[in-house]
Amino acid sequence: MIAAMSETAPTPVTIRLCQPRGFCAGVDRAIQIVVLALKKYGAPVYVRHEIVHNRYVVEGLRDKGAVFIEELGEVPEEHRDRPVVFSAHGVPKSVPKEAESLNLLYLDATCPLVSKVHKQALRHHRRGRHVLLIGHGGHPEVIGTMGQLPDGVVTLVENEEQAAGVDLPLDLALGYVTQTTLSVDDTAGIIRVLEERFPLLEPPAAESICYATTNRQEAVREAAPGTDLFLVVGASNSSNSRRLVEVAERAGAKRALLVQRAGEIPWNELGRLATIGLSAGASAPEIIIDEIIEAFRAHYAVTVDPVVTAVEAEDFPVMRTLRDVELTAADMAFVNGTI
Ligand code: SF4
Repeated sequence: MIAAMSETAPTPVTIRLCQPRGFCAGVDRAIQIVVLALKKYGAPVYVRHEIVHNRYVVEGLRDKGAVFIEELGEVPEEHRDRPVVFSAHGVPKSVPKEAESLNLLYLDATCPLVSKVHKQALRHHRRGRHVLLIGHGGHPEVIGTMGQLPDGVVTLVENEEQAAGVDLPLDLALGYVTQTTLSVDDTAGIIRVLEERFPLLEPPAAESICYATTNRQEAVREAAPGTDLFLVVGASNSSNSRRLVEVAERAGAKRALLVQRAGEIPWNELGRLATIGLSAGASAPEIIIDEIIEAFRAHYAVTVDPVVTAVEAEDFPVMRTLRDVELTAADMAFVNGTI
């Protein structure tokens, strides 16, 4: 039974709060681009795909006048003068081309670290290498990266079994890149299998898994051992958030759960808790972390124990066309995920 329902003093619980957690520089920039576009051009601003995989953020932007679409053809004729923002995950080359053919003003919010992976894939191709993309099929970032190159020159590899079964000549010139939000450990295993099979395999010129993914996984790995429960704030379609749940389980959390809001915590099934881990995927705003800590305070005597493994200072500037737009303190709080 949860402590708040008993008449005795609330049960003490320690929350190991991971840092870094939550918004990364790419997500912050993408949200900022939509907010700035709304200020500069007024509503509606169209956004192709969820700008970041988080319902709270998407609904907040919808309230401000953003309209989410999956394909450019969904922009109505009478709104062809409205701007369209491409999401942080990146888009295939065909998408800006289509925007140009429709005469749409587009703002590309692709994270610069995703663009860097696109460039590495192109570089392999230019050097005559077939490209192996390590990632999850169907994820928008993978669709965007594959769509940088002609059909047939990229092979997707999702796991070690697929790496062992890649059906290409063993002496073929090959280069690999990865999705930015993968498990660092799983990816190392996949690369090992590929390197053993393909002696000519070349790595990308720079690490594809991004700093934010690596740092959030490292903080979870540090905080998880011995926890009775590990909560990761994030959406089920958020790749980096799902990886954090796996990292927590492997690092020794008795149970790890992905939740979007405090209301999803299954209080009656939690059992005895003494230590909890708490983190958030790169697309989850800080306000949900506050909401979850407050929800625990309603049930337990909470002590928050920060687990700090890195301090991040990355900041990606928005495109020049939006730099003259001023943001209020309330706009900035939304962009930073604190309201
Ligand atoms: S998780 Fe990494 S690649 Fe994705 S938006 Fe954030 S910084 Fe960019």
